[in-house]
Amino acid sequence: MLPFIRSAIRQLNAYKPHPGGNAGEPAALDIPLDRVDSNESPYDLPAELKEKLAWICTEQIEANRYPDGSHKPLKDAIAQYVNESASLTTHRVTPEQISLGNGSDELIRSILIATCLQGEGSILVANPTFSMYGIIAQTLGIPVVEVGRSLDNFEMDLQAATKAIQRSQNPPIRVVFMVHPNSPTANALTEREVEWLRQLPEEILVVIDEAYFEFSQQTLVSELLQRPNWLILRTFSKAFRLAAYRVGYAVGHESAIAALEKVRLPYNLPSFTQAAAQVALTHRQLLLAAIPQTLSERERFSLALAQYPVFRLWPSAANFIFFRLNLPANQVETATSALCEQLKERGTLIRHTCGGLRITIGSPAENQRTLERIAALIKD
Ligand SMILES: *Cc1c(COP(=O)(O)O)cnc(C)c1O
Repeated sequence: MLPFIRSAIRQLNAYKPHPGGNAGEPAALDIPLDRVDSNESPYDLPAELKEKLAWICTEQIEANRYPDGSHKPLKDAIAQYVNESASLTTHRVTPEQISLGNGSDELIRSILIATCLQGEGSILVANPTFSMYGIIAQTLGIPVVEVGRSLDNFEMDLQAATKAIQRSQNPPIRVVFMVHPNSPTANALTEREVEWLRQLPEEILVVIDEAYFEFSQQTLVSELLQRPNWLILRTFSKAFRLAAYRVGYAVGHESAIAALEKVRLPYNLPSFTQAAAQVALTHRQLLLAAIPQTLSERERFSLALAQYPVFRLWPSAANFIFFRLNLPANQVETATSALCEQLKERGTLIRHTCGGLRITIGSPAENQRTLERIAALIKD
């Protein structure tokens, strides 16, 4: 390893979008792979929107000019959508309360730079949860304090979290990351968890990641105005079908947003990306019309899996399902890996994570194939 690389980076492994390596490659490479491992929408943008974007690219975007670094028109449109999404009429979110990132991943990094760097803070996460908080913190040398969750409903261990905050003094916990609903376990925040977040002192930033809001329809946006230490993250990568374009946003107090704006790179969002998000918002009724089908497919999929006593399933408030194998502890990991690999050989890519399996709800045809392949494997 090169001697000029920081020791924290030397110890890290680069993020793998599809972990599991090449084991279990599809048996026949000509079978199309059903990619239900990343919680993306199964649907590409409709052709008419792609044509519109192509037109914007050829007719409007000057390739030789830097993008609009103010993001103002997009922030206006997002503010309107956020207000609509939380049915806010009087105390409305303003564009000054929004910051845009190259995916919400970039915002997570900006949050950490603005709060914890140089030994000023550590972060608290409740595992299992979205891995990027911990990964980005590690690249920045920020300590990660971990607590567990209840096995019944994946509620955070609130007692352990309270203790962790009391104990971590050097550096103190500056940020608590919660996903609503959580990935990979698909549970929305419970009232007890929200109450716990409400009583945290103002020196602690509460980040509520609502990446799956459009599926859960549960949001804490209406509380933001009373809580200057809360920040909500959302993304265009899931329900809005724009994972390829990289757009996420943070909603919060103007001063917290101003800090994120200081940290971000001036041209973090390409012109094409900003245009895509604008087009997606303008046509949100068309794009979000696919959600009821995803929710009914989720119910169908869950009922089908629940038939097998070998699976332990949890309810989902998102566009994916989390389950574990009901096997003795010493067999679970091997059997879960095997199931994952065998599914991949048959053409279905799912995620083996946190001792269980996470499957994205895909198109009805994909879901049907996944269920049939699982059925065939369970019989063997
Ligand atoms: C998918 C996901 C995101 C989205 O990240 P982007 O960088 O916007 O694509 C953020 N948070 C969680 C919990 C996710 O699952």
